[in-house]
Amino acid sequence: MANEDQFKKVISHAKEYGYVFQSSEIYDGLSAVYDYAQNGAELKKNIRDYWWKAMVQMNDNIVGIDAAIFMHPTTWKASGHVDAFNDPLIDNKDSKKRYRADVLVEDYCAKIENKIEKEVKKAEKRFGDAFNKDEFISTNGRVLGYQEKIDSILKRLGQSLEKEDLADVKALIEELEIADPMTGSRNWTDVKQFNLMFGTKLGASAESAMDLYLRPETAQGIFVNFLNVQKTGRMKIPFGIAQTGKAFRNEIVARQFIFRMREFEQMEMQFFIKPGTQKEWFDHWKETRMKWHLSLGMGNDNYRFHDHEKLAHYADAATDIEFKFPFGFKELEGIHSRTDFDLKQHEEYSGKKLQYFDHEDNASYTPYVLETSIGLDRMFLAVFSNALEDETLDDGSVRTVLKLPAVLAPTKAAVLPLVKKDGLPEIAKSIIEDLKWDFNVTYDEKDAVGRRYRRQDANGTPFCITVDHDTLEDNTVTIRHRDTMEQQRINIADLRDIIKKEVDVKHWLQKMK
Ligand code: ATP
Repeated sequence: MANEDQFKKVISHAKEYGYVFQSSEIYDGLSAVYDYAQNGAELKKNIRDYWWKAMVQMNDNIVGIDAAIFMHPTTWKASGHVDAFNDPLIDNKDSKKRYRADVLVEDYCAKIENKIEKEVKKAEKRFGDAFNKDEFISTNGRVLGYQEKIDSILKRLGQSLEKEDLADVKALIEELEIADPMTGSRNWTDVKQFNLMFGTKLGASAESAMDLYLRPETAQGIFVNFLNVQKTGRMKIPFGIAQTGKAFRNEIVARQFIFRMREFEQMEMQFFIKPGTQKEWFDHWKETRMKWHLSLGMGNDNYRFHDHEKLAHYADAATDIEFKFPFGFKELEGIHSRTDFDLKQHEEYSGKKLQYFDHEDNASYTPYVLETSIGLDRMFLAVFSNALEDETLDDGSVRTVLKLPAVLAPTKAAVLPLVKKDGLPEIAKSIIEDLKWDFNVTYDEKDAVGRRYRRQDANGTPFCITVDHDTLEDNTVTIRHRDTMEQQRINIADLRDIIKKEVDVKHWLQKMK
């Protein structure tokens, strides 16, 4: 299936199966704002829990907080967001459409990357089993040429943005003959900076109201609480503070479904360390976060690191973990070595000392910070789009199956009476009454059992439990596994253990070891 078709299928499946709805749909929706539906809210909660357990519960030197969305406005002056949280924008004079200039250039590079992928696929076919992808990529003249072109374009873009040379960004767009993706027009305005923060007001009367911002990231709620947490938790460096919560950005190119939203949720952890140890911790968190992703078994080839050429004003090293979304490799998580920038800034703007007294060194210092920052909605899209498959079965029929990692699936099991009589529904309901203490389970009695299996497959439910007439005799049921469609006859008393083994967080997180 072409990538674009696959992506459309992801969006319509998310709606049809109660995962994601357009916000305020009855009023024709609100652009780049989405609601999580009955299944989506569960999947999102499970992803959040999976992250929280890996970061907070499993690390005795990381604690979690829940800071407010509203913060004192000086926070955003100190953090640099008032002056520097900008996107470079360009308008097309003919279509009147507005784009992010850097995204136009990056999309251009993604097209060249597609050409590389095509060359690789062609060669794979030609050489068969003898094909060595790494060797091909590093020696094939055409591929090397493409890669060189990408590297030089991105380097120039990075340097121009770094120097705030917006005229050169426009020149680059013109030299590459990049056209408006919607209309093909190349009639561009100059590139301008645009601040992404949403403003609002606190207070009743216009005169006394205070201008506030909706937080554009959760990180600052952690920095301003650094000393409170360190003191009350008696935390010793190195230690981390984690939090999950909503963030808001007035994104220009708010498309690609829940990949880029105006209201979204972040899962961030700030790790406070001794100055000079940042390289070691950067490598540590790069590796640890990648292991977390890989533990979900969504395909090792679907992830890669992308080290930043252009560093944000606060960072001395940064990398993205990119995931292969239906529209190509894109940032899923950022890992940033933020130096002591944030704490120093808050110290300066608040006039309060934000230092740590190191008993071993008998000295005070401003800690350095390593940040891991992942978008919950982006992770949701990664998990959901990766799971959706149209699988051709041996008999030639096609089943749509959502192969969500069982630990994240919204519903762990569906209990199905074979027929709606003879006491089978009662047994099915009693199984639910028992299992629901431990798992999200559902009851389904409508349609033939085969159709019910397909419905649960498409819904991502890892297990179907069927109660039939033999159950009346011997207390056994059939348990069917979503991915293999394998069926086993087991005792009702064994259900809990069988399900638990596959959905238990421990079983999954242990893969990080
Ligand atoms: P991008 O380059 O895609 O705009 P970013 O580098 O600005 O992202 P960060 O500020 O590093 O993103 O935020 C950390 C994480 O938050 C990102 O890796 C991403 O997963 C998520 N995120 C950022 N902006 C959005 C958004 N508008 N919608 C959904 N998730 C987002």
